[in-house]
Amino acid sequence: MPRARCERCLRPNDHCLCALIPSLDSRTRVLILQHPSEVNHALNTARLAALGLKNAELQRGEVFEDLAQWLSRPGYRACLLFPGEEAVALIASSADDMPLLLVVPDGTWRKARKLLHLNPLLAALPRVVLRNAPPSRYRLRKAPGPDALSTLEAIVHGLQTLEPAKSFEDLLRPFDALIDGQIAAMGEETFRRNHS
Ligand SMILES: [Zn+2]
Repeated sequence: MPRARCERCLRPNDHCLCALIPSLDSRTRVLILQHPSEVNHALNTARLAALGLKNAELQRGEVFEDLAQWLSRPGYRACLLFPGEEAVALIASSADDMPLLLVVPDGTWRKARKLLHLNPLLAALPRVVLRNAPPSRYRLRKAPGPDALSTLEAIVHGLQTLEPAKSFEDLLRPFDALIDGQIAAMGEETFRRNHS
């Protein structure tokens, strides 16, 4: 019989992270588009971001029928957090700027590219990238590159860049606990052997 799960954070009940998830305001709105293959990944970090930010939503799928509606949300300027030839680095936004609707694809690079391919509106958005992102705290899954961040870390860094007067660090608390818990579960010995 599978262990009972918390309906909110989807962790097993005895490892529920909800007490660590903040409820933060942001001027920037975050729209996370999650490829279905990420849902059952042990570290569903996109979900932690969506739960911890009041002005965020997570949508799951491959082809998003309502995308045009989501992207034209009044009062926001949509852009896609994804590399590309025309991508510009995120910088601090000023109060005069229209707030961003930061669209974040969640999934491996291959899945994210697939989402762009299947949703031409997404591919057509202006692109932004992170500059000077810190190294990932994510020590478990071998990242595809030195600056590959989990979706949650990328969102935290992006928001911190856009809104430097606020702190979004608390969003990482459940993430750190999750990683520490996984390391404890696999045993320090195994961890050192595989990740040193
Ligand atoms: Zn929970």
